[in-house]
Parts: sequence; C-alpha cells; structure tokens
Amino acid sequence: MKTKIFETTKNDIEEASRLIQKGEVVAFPTETVYGLGADATNESAIKKVFVAKGRPADNPLIMTVADAAQLDEFVTISDQARGLMDHFWPGSLTIILPIKPGKVSMLVTGGLQTVAFRLPANDAARTLIRAAGVPIVGPSANTSGKPSPTTAQHVWHDMQNKIAGIVDDGPTQVGVESTVVDMSISTPIILRPGAVTQTQLENVLQMKVIDATSTESVASNVTPKAPGMKYRHYAPDKNVVMFDELDALDLKQVLAPNDVVMAQDDMIEKMGLTKRQAWSLGNTLETATEQLFAGLRFYDDDSQITTIYVQKMPPIGIGKAFNNRLGKAAGNQEFQN
Ligand code: AMP
Ligand code: MG
Repeated sequence: MKTKIFETTKNDIEEASRLIQKGEVVAFPTETVYGLGADATNESAIKKVFVAKGRPADNPLIMTVADAAQLDEFVTISDQARGLMDHFWPGSLTIILPIKPGKVSMLVTGGLQTVAFRLPANDAARTLIRAAGVPIVGPSANTSGKPSPTTAQHVWHDMQNKIAGIVDDGPTQVGVESTVVDMSISTPIILRPGAVTQTQLENVLQMKVIDATSTESVASNVTPKAPGMKYRHYAPDKNVVMFDELDALDLKQVLAPNDVVMAQDDMIEKMGLTKRQAWSLGNTLETATEQLFAGLRFYDDDSQITTIYVQKMPPIGIGKAFNNRLGKAAGNQEFQN
C-alpha cells in the first residue's frame, strides 16, 4: 500500500475522511501526538490499526470525537465527567466511561466494560472526524512500544506503506500523550499523566483524584491495573539513562564519545557540550516535553550513538508527564556517579 501524504486543506481532509469511511487507516495530527485514525464502528478497520501498530489485542483503544454529543450513543456520562468535558475539551484529557452494553466493539474496549474518549484540540483532527461522520479510534501512530510520533515524518518512519494516508500538520504542541482519567469508578484515578494535571482535575471536580502513576500511590497499593500499563512503552532501542541536575558535572566527566545528552539550554551551557553532543530541550517544562520524543527518535536512528542521557525535570505541572515518559524510555535507569 502506498501511503499518501495529505495537507490540512479542505480538499485533502475530505479525501482523507473518505478513506476512513472506506475502512482504511489514516494518521492525523492532534495537539499531543499523532494518532492512527480508523472508523471506530468498523471492526475490519480497527483490526488494521492493530496490525499497523503491532499492538497486543487486549490493549484498548481511545475513541476520538469531534463533538461531545457523539458520546451519548456509546456511554453513560456522569455529571462529574460532563464537568470535565465542559472544562478541558477540546484538549489533552482522555476520559474513561462505562459503556452502554453492546454499543462498543470488543476490539476497542479490549473486553472491558469501559471505553476511553477524547476530543482533541486540533482543527484538522476535528474537521477529519466530522467529515468521516463517525468516532474514530486514535491510538498514537507509532509502532507499538516505540516513542509516540510528534511529526508527520515520525509517522512516515513507522507507518510508510502500512496505512493509507498521513495528514501533515507540522510538529505537535504538547509532545506527550493525553492525561487518562478513569471516571467509571467512584474515586477518579489518573492512569497516565499528561498536560492536564491532578491539581487541575481536583479543582474542577472539587474532589480527591488519585494519581495511580505517582510513587506515593504505588507504595500504598491503590494502583489499578490499567490494560496498557503492562506493556513496554515509549522506549527507543538505544540505552537511555536519566540524570539529575545535580549530577550534570559528574556526567560530563564520564561522557564517552558516542554518548549524547538531551537537556535544557542552561544545562547544555553549564556542561559545555558541543552541538553534536546535545539535543536542546529549550528553557521551559513545556519545551522539554514537546522535544522529548523527537530527540529520542533522532538519536535512536543514529547508529553512532550508544547511550542517550536525558535530564529529569522538576515533578511539577507537565514535568510529571515528562518524567513518567522518560522513566519508561529509560527503564528507570538513573545516572550514578
Ligand atoms: P494510545 O493508544 O497510545 O493512545 O494509549 C491509550 C492508553 O489508554 C493505553 O495505555 C490504554 O491502555 C489506555 N486505555 C484506553 N482505553 C482504556 C480503558 N477503557 N480503560 C483503561 N485504560 C484504557
Ligand atoms: Mg501509544
């Protein structure tokens, strides 16, 4: 299959939406990462997504909609869940809700009685979904286990000739996947940290939200087993090691010629690294998160490189999501001097 590249013009998006209506898979931009779009009501189309990604069948898919009204057919929405949608959609929050029996394919739910929904904050994505006229499944458009794609070129790298098309809208803004919150149970639980934080959710809900991904809740044994959590995620083939700001100068001492560093600009300067040795994570938590997967993918494809050292961020705001993805990419390896 020859993968066609689409721009975000009206004609191109309409052509891409017709492919989705025909049961084909088209990758599309969102503000978080690129997604793999297919008609969520067509099982043969959904199967193609699993094949293209090489994804295990019991790992459920997110359903992506252009309008919150599209949910009513599939799920029961509590007032609290409605409050989150009103406040955070369109945006980087995926909400897990109880399904109406028989309304959602087992391929989407992974056999669970729940389904995850998101309304992305990207115009091309919403235009595409609206034109297709159905909710579309939208898992990240990477080969299963690899870092998620933040550019159309990343998607092309993993998906060329495996899917019908890619809608190119340039680099994504957030750079990591959406926050996933389970609203199908009485106490909301964050299953994946993202741009929408625990504090923001608590402020809107006016109730306690558990972060299943924080060390605190893992220690107190309240961690639920979210389906995706058992699979290796976001990991390049190269050796990835995290380092702390305080260890930067020690790291510089032992840096081998084939090692590279991903760090913020002040850190790159402090360590006196050359352009070839360093990938800039910019100056803020937001720029660091936006650049994380792009840097990992770039060095993963460079046969000269042995180890990628990546600076940890302070665990505030989106820094938690950054450290969560970095921890997975590094298999939690930390630099020790
Ligand atoms: P991705 O497919 O890369 O966008 O990731 C989607 C994430 O949401 C995976 O970690 C899934 O396991 C998780 N997920 C999707 N649907 C559900 C669900 N119904 N219950 C729990 N987790 C879910
Ligand atoms: Mg993914």
